[in-house]
Amino acid sequence: MKFVSPLARALPVAALSALLLSACSNTGNSVSAANAEGLMSAGKSVAQAATLSDAEVMQLSDKSCAELDSQSKIAAPKSKSALRLAKITKSMPKDVNGVAINYKVYETKDVNAWAMNNGCVRVYSGLMNLMTDDEIRGVVGHEIGHVALGHSKKSMQVAYAAGAARQVAAVSGNSAVAALSSSDIGAIAEKLVNAQFSQAQESDADDYSFDLLTAAKLKREGLISAFEKLAKLGDSNSMLSSHPSSSGRAQHIRDRIAAKK
Ligand SMILES: [Zn+2]
Repeated sequence: MKFVSPLARALPVAALSALLLSACSNTGNSVSAANAEGLMSAGKSVAQAATLSDAEVMQLSDKSCAELDSQSKIAAPKSKSALRLAKITKSMPKDVNGVAINYKVYETKDVNAWAMNNGCVRVYSGLMNLMTDDEIRGVVGHEIGHVALGHSKKSMQVAYAAGAARQVAAVSGNSAVAALSSSDIGAIAEKLVNAQFSQAQESDADDYSFDLLTAAKLKREGLISAFEKLAKLGDSNSMLSSHPSSSGRAQHIRDRIAAKK
């Protein structure tokens, strides 16, 4: 789910600067004459590097999550918000695609939540303060859906391929992911957190969450009111206009409850 906060809107520029800076410094420092041959074939290497293996996706997820954790205020395990999330997610999945899920709260007024392939699920306190337990379960199920359905992996491929650093990584001959600097990882992580999924992906993640809640015998109505609350946040603080409208998504869930399937 994509929620735009003032902070998130400011980040693309910073992320781009970080990428450009790292590309410049790496070109000056790391690519020596000995790498000239590598440089000549960089075009081919870059094309290969743009496709990450499952192991690399996991590695990059680990690094991205660790980078964002280090930049964020994580709620202490005994804090009110951490205890609340633990209670909320008690009946939620313990793993996604066979990978154990690790739930944590970021203390921030931003309204956001996301999941990564390594099982890293983060819910922002700004979203928790806005929503009921049922609504948060609906949102968390949606985010897990993006991972389970392969959307997050695709999004990571795009974020990675967009980074100038991959060229240097490819030329240096090192494992592409291992060669990324922390600023590169930070830029990729921001792209992941603010990933723009397609309308079809958003709808599929909604259905995934609905099915998850149904299977766990949890209330599905929270998914409806979560969309309605997001709609009220308005254009400047809600999902992008290219996404299915929040009211349309809420109606789809109402229809599914009415159809009992
Ligand atoms: Zn989404």
